[in-house]
Amino acid sequence: MRPVNKGKAPDKRFKRYQEAEPYLEDRLGAFCSFCEMPVNHVPEVEHKEAKGKGGEELKWKNLLLSCKYCNTRKGIFVAKGDKNKYLWPDEDDTFHAFRYDNDIPQLNEKYLQNRSEKIQQKAENLFHLLKLNNIPISPTVKDRRYASRNEARNYALDSKLGWDKVKRTPERLEYLKMIENLAKASGFFSVWMEVFKDDMEIKKMLVSVFKGTKKEYCLDPMK
Ligand SMILES: [Zn+2]
Repeated sequence: MRPVNKGKAPDKRFKRYQEAEPYLEDRLGAFCSFCEMPVNHVPEVEHKEAKGKGGEELKWKNLLLSCKYCNTRKGIFVAKGDKNKYLWPDEDDTFHAFRYDNDIPQLNEKYLQNRSEKIQQKAENLFHLLKLNNIPISPTVKDRRYASRNEARNYALDSKLGWDKVKRTPERLEYLKMIENLAKASGFFSVWMEVFKDDMEIKKMLVSVFKGTKKEYCLDPMK
């Protein structure tokens, strides 16, 4: 899950939480803060502590961007005061807490086993809350995250094949630009980072293209 830096609260005072959307989008790009799917059509302002359960409705610190699938699953489960039971992409190293080397995101046990029990629990709680590993089993279950992530993964895998062929040729810059555009359009930062995990040049490009990414978590080796 892409760790992000939202920066300081904007100067503007929000009267409605929806007014925060363009600011969040400007800082973080139009991607779900949880599943990383592009949210160009219906970005939703998400409250970490649910506004329906006492969470602060207008506080910048409590806001993220979300797709409707993550927002729906998260619902109002996280009440005021419960924030510390979960990892958050704008506060924690969510980059290493989950794995994307498969069709389905998973908890990164290798990383988590060296963390405190508290961190392990927070990662598990967030993972299960959002049902990040959900595979829709019937067309009536609306959850495009799985299909959309697979599409991005296929683009990334194809891009890697092409890149390995052209990166030492005069076409490299054009191809690099193509990867950049494709990654931005298809989203799923962590999937791209995983596919290009051995290519620091592409990883640096991805970290800068997906604005607001907390790069120190993403470019440093796993400790
Ligand atoms: Zn999502």
